[in-house]
Amino acid sequence: MNTILEIKDLIISFDGFYAVNNVNTKINKGEIRFFIGPNGAGKTTLLDAICGRIKPQHGSIIFNNNKNVLHYAEHELVNIGIGRKFQVPSVFTSLSVYENMEISVVKNRGIFSAIFNNITKSQREKINTILELVDLFDYRYRKASELSHGQKQWLEIAMLLVQDLQLILLDEPVAGMGRKETTKTGELLQKIAAHCTVIVVEHDMQFVREYASMVTVLHEGAVLDEGSVNHIQNNPKVIDVYLGR
Ligand code: ADP
Repeated sequence: MNTILEIKDLIISFDGFYAVNNVNTKINKGEIRFFIGPNGAGKTTLLDAICGRIKPQHGSIIFNNNKNVLHYAEHELVNIGIGRKFQVPSVFTSLSVYENMEISVVKNRGIFSAIFNNITKSQREKINTILELVDLFDYRYRKASELSHGQKQWLEIAMLLVQDLQLILLDEPVAGMGRKETTKTGELLQKIAAHCTVIVVEHDMQFVREYASMVTVLHEGAVLDEGSVNHIQNNPKVIDVYLGR
């Protein structure tokens, strides 16, 4: 298996409080890796470190075997292939679905390239393919403000995919969704995983059970257990600190 991300001896503390306490894990290409654990376990802080928001006091995060993520600023990571979606959808609501995609596809050349219609034919084709993938092609001329909550989340995922990322980080992607939208999101993750690796922080255990390839359980900043859903579900310690609640 090819490792895409290796987190080594990671320590992040805030005024002496260890939010991430010596975390080690390896994530393989094509995985849908879930980070779960009780509130305050360190999940968000770990995602913040992977996407360059927080600089750890110790350790490394190696992407594609040779790039230490910690040497890059947050805005540079998209250029090496890592992108993050936050919990609340942040699409441009006054623009159409298609215009949101245009802005994303020209990530390096900025918003003006998109405004001046500087999009190549192959970029246009890429946008259309990805809009089909997330089931928003028929909505491409709608304003993003008219989309449902789930559709806004899928648009934001599409805006990441169009940037040819190799690793995407999703923070509670199904929060606020009904079961139908949740299932559709899970199916979308499975389709995405054929092209890129996905790391998800999630509380919805039914979702985790259905779609995780691997699960890392965090507790008090450390890895309590890691493995398949079946494996972690049968660990009494995991049941005690998280699943049994
Ligand atoms: P989770 O996402 O698992 O709920 P977090 O990563 O948000 O956990 O937080 C882990 C711990 O670190 C919590 O106790 C939280 O209060 C603390 N923490 C997170 N960010 C900061 C910060 N900027 N300053 C101080 N403490 C923080």
